[in-house]
Amino acid sequence: MSILNETIYHELGISQEVYELGEATCTRLRDRFDIIDSNAEYNQLKVLNAMQKNNVSEACLLGTTGYGYSDIGRDKLEQVYASVFHTEDALVRPQITCGTHALALALMSNLRPGDELLSPVGKPYDTLEEVIGIRPSKGSLAEYGVTYSQVDLLEDGSFDFEGIRKAINEKTKLVTIQRSKGYATRPTLSVERIGELIKFIKEIKPEIICMVDNCYGEFVQKIEPTDVGADMIVGSLIKNPGGGLAPIGGYIAGKKECVENAAYRLTSPGLGKEVGASLGILPQFYQGFFLAPTVTASALKGAIFAANLYENFGFDVFPNATEDRFDIIQSITFGKPEGLIAFCEGVQAAAPVDSFVAPEPWDMPGYDAQVIMAAGAFVSGSSIELSADGPLKAPYNVYFQGGLTWPHAKLGILKTVQAMKDKGLINI
Ligand SMILES: *Cc1c(COP(=O)(O)O)cnc(C)c1O
Repeated sequence: MSILNETIYHELGISQEVYELGEATCTRLRDRFDIIDSNAEYNQLKVLNAMQKNNVSEACLLGTTGYGYSDIGRDKLEQVYASVFHTEDALVRPQITCGTHALALALMSNLRPGDELLSPVGKPYDTLEEVIGIRPSKGSLAEYGVTYSQVDLLEDGSFDFEGIRKAINEKTKLVTIQRSKGYATRPTLSVERIGELIKFIKEIKPEIICMVDNCYGEFVQKIEPTDVGADMIVGSLIKNPGGGLAPIGGYIAGKKECVENAAYRLTSPGLGKEVGASLGILPQFYQGFFLAPTVTASALKGAIFAANLYENFGFDVFPNATEDRFDIIQSITFGKPEGLIAFCEGVQAAAPVDSFVAPEPWDMPGYDAQVIMAAGAFVSGSSIELSADGPLKAPYNVYFQGGLTWPHAKLGILKTVQAMKDKGLINI
């Protein structure tokens, strides 16, 4: 007996028209999905190769308590990260609480009073404004006498090389380059473009530390910023490299000295990487990293699928339906609140956890408008899992990302289409 896929879609509330539109869209995207699968294949083998070369063993999965001296699983995992990212060393810890913490740690440990930090790619991610002290904040780099300068991208999205040359001075110690656009509207940087920028900066002043905020970018391409000259890459384990399994954590991979500085700041001068018990978390860290390439591929397919459907409905989508991808974030502009809300309702209704609740706009601390969020994740706040959010203000953009498996990302997007259709916001 053959069971048709559409039967289960109908059971999950997807109408025949929406299902067929989804199938037709998938058929058109087959060649692009093949390229994503091929990247994932390469990256999967890259991770596997690193695990084999470093002799990961069953004992590595056990973990330690207390001080965590001689935690071979933790130390080996850091070697695996260093092998995959082609760096001298890495720090991969559950004590790093999130991406912002990892970035703050990398910055605060490698900068000293009197140094200057430069962002040559415009305004950094929101939460970094407080780390740097762009918005005054307790404990910021500014409070410690670290100054900041910024060079925006040019109108067409290219680097302002002249501006960057002028901004580099005797105090400039570290350059921070954000790979993903985050919630800005500039394009995400490809690893190749990051390489060009680093080369330019190092020609002016070779000793500058080039750090890349790698959030949402890991495993999207076959190379990473450390393959094109970055001294340090930094990211969150509840995004791509945690593969959906890591329940917490962050990483810093790079030059030995940069990682060492970060370790002394994370724990204590004199202690560094030697302490920090991994508790029982190593199996999820290892297995999540092992799954990360295919999980990232699923999320990428979801983003491209959404861009293609919504561009056809006449909405502005960013990146557009045909552009190359360098991170997993998709934004869609609805122009009115109903679209944004219906989209988030659809994502929530597709979740494995809390699918029965309806997301509602709320006054989130630190935002000047209400925000709506959809997330029914196994790991709270995880944005490698299917999730969407957006501020309730013009132009009513939704930011959509994640999907641990492609079938789940696909269902999530079809649920959004169904919700939009049922409310009369689109015609199919
Ligand atoms: C998510 C993100 C961060 C911050 O990570 P959190 O885990 O949310 O603190 C920083 N930079 C970029 C580009 C991000 O996407």
